This record gives sequence, structure tokens and C-alpha cells, in this order.
Amino acid sequence: MAFKVLITPRSFETVKDKCLILLEKENFEVVMNPYGRVLTEEELAGLIGEMDGIIVGIDPVTSEVLEKAKRLKVISKYGVGVDNIDLEKAKEKGILVTNTPGANSNAVAELTLGLIFAVLRKINLSDRKTREGSWERFIGYELSGKTLGVIGTGNIGRRLIKLLKGFDLKILCYDKYPDLKWESEEGVVYVSLEELLKNSDVISIHMPLTKETYHFISEKELSLVKSEAVIINTSRGGIIDEMALYNAIKEGKLLGAGLDVFEKEPPIDSPLLNLDNVVITSHIGAHTQEATENMAKMAVENLISALKGERPKFLIE
Ligand code: NAD
Repeated sequence: MAFKVLITPRSFETVKDKCLILLEKENFEVVMNPYGRVLTEEELAGLIGEMDGIIVGIDPVTSEVLEKAKRLKVISKYGVGVDNIDLEKAKEKGILVTNTPGANSNAVAELTLGLIFAVLRKINLSDRKTREGSWERFIGYELSGKTLGVIGTGNIGRRLIKLLKGFDLKILCYDKYPDLKWESEEGVVYVSLEELLKNSDVISIHMPLTKETYHFISEKELSLVKSEAVIINTSRGGIIDEMALYNAIKEGKLLGAGLDVFEKEPPIDSPLLNLDNVVITSHIGAHTQEATENMAKMAVENLISALKGERPKFLIE
């Protein structure tokens, strides 16, 4: 019997020709996302029953959804963060979970750069105001010579640091698992979270959303940050307490923020949308042609290995 596979990420469509061939070669039956957007729990639960494998983006693969999986053998995450997948339930049901580490690091790091400059130089505000007919000469800040604080020194945090060579930055890092060898090779310094928050001009977050990192940056942490600092979050929305961030910016305790991710997406009711010194993008960190191709290829390879009974290269354990 041919394996049946569901593919949900919309951007997969753009690389379909190169990747579907690999699945067809294996005689898998492929079902593409029929809704053209991130699936709801109900929609995914309705489709998962007859699938042997799924390639998912940020769709909610919850315990309730997995309850409906009758023959599922693998959840192949198209991306890095697996916070949308109930890993415990998957393990309990013997379903393998894989991801695509590093595939989108450069894409996210480059978007982070874009957000840093957009906030520091008020690029979006200047664009908006000019279109509205005004011609204001906004005063911004330069990045060169400043202190960058990187929270989470995995693939994306490290890529960002590489890309910023040449800006003469002092780089402070915080990670639960500091890599001391990389620290000395790269010329960065691991410090405590408190020290990083107090001394950085730009703080960029690159760690996974877990129970431990939920609201990791909240009122207490924001109270330590310099009033002319900016925070960039291209990791996951739940890591920052958005109400605390809104209050800090509104009260002038922070210069501004660049946000690609939100606790609830899209953030239609978020008061952050009303602040001029917050630059917002629509979770597009990994959305480049290059990253999409990398993620699709790795996700397909992981899925094929798992369904063939082999050990996938990027298994979450
Ligand atoms: P990674 O696994 O390579 O690095 C994550 C780092 O965070 C690791 O060094 C790890 O030790 C550290 N970490 C884990 N828990 C921590 C904690 N409690 N405190 C401090 N540090 C902790 O992942 P990555 O590829 O660098 O991606 C980072 C995150 O970015 C992902 O988990 C994902 O949620 C997010 N992401 C967002 C987009 C987007 O579209 N905006 C795209 C890709 C990834």
C-alpha cells in the first residue's frame, strides 16, 4: 500500500516541482494543504486520520490532533521550532518527529538585521509618513560601535553575529548551554541574562519557545534594559510578554522593538500595532526562496527516511 502524505506549508508550493518528484519516486500519495493557510486544529484533525506522514509548518499538532492519527509514523517539521507539536504525545504514540536545523538560519539572521536597522533608523515610519504627504527628518541611531546582546547562540544567533562582523560591535551572549570553545574562537562574551539586559543597545532573541522560555522577557527583565535600547524578536512570540513590552515602550523605558513573531498570530488586537517605534513583520523570518528550498528538501528527506524505516538525519529525541 502506498504511503499517504500531507504537506501543509504554503511556501512549499513555490518549490513543489523540485521536491514532489522525490516523493513521487517513492510512490507516495501526496495531499497538499487544501485551505491555503495555516490549518486550525479541527482542520488538521480532519485530515490526519489517513496520513502516514505529514510535513508541517506552524500548524497546531496538538494532543487532540494526534488522537485522530491512526497510522501516522512521522511528523516532519518544515523549520526549526517544534513548539507547535506535542512532542510527548507523539512519543507516546511512537510517531517520529524531525526538523530542519540550520536550513533557515541565514534567512532569519538577515531579517533580524533588517529589523535592527528599520527600528534604529525609523525606516518604516519615514516611509509611512512620506506616503501620507509629510516630509519629516527623523533622527535615528547608528549600530556601529554599540553593544549587541544575543539571547540564544544556536544556528541563527551565530549567523547573526557572523553577519555583523564589520560593525565593530561588542557582543554579549546568553545561552542556557554556553559553548565556551565557540566563545573564544568568535571573540564574544557569555554573560548573565541580567548583565546582557543592562548593557546591550540592541537585544536579539534566538531561542526556542518552551515552558521554560514562555514570557522569558517580561516586566522585570524589561526594567533592566537601557531606555535607548531596542529589542528584536524573530524567534517565537510567547517568549516576550507583549503587554509588558507595550508598557515599557509606551513609558519610554525602551526605544523600540522589531517583531516578526507574536503570541497570537496574526496579532490583530495587539496594542503594539499602535506604536510608531515598533516595526512588525508577518512571521516571514524563514520565507526566502533559498531557505524554503533548503527546508523543503530536508523535510522531504527526513520524511522519506522515516517512512522507509530508516533513521532520519534530523530526528528530535
Ligand atoms: P537552535 O536550536 O540552533 O538554537 C537555539 C539556542 O537556544 C541554543 O543555543 C539553545 O542552547 C538555546 N536555548 C534553549 N533553551 C534556552 C533557555 N531556556 N535559555 C537560554 N537559551 C536557550 O535554533 P535556531 O535555528 O537558532 O532557532 C532559534 C529559534 O528561532 C527557533 O527555536 C524558532 O522558534 C525560531 N525561528 C523563527 C523563525 C521565523 O520565521 N521567525 C524561523 C526559524 C526559527
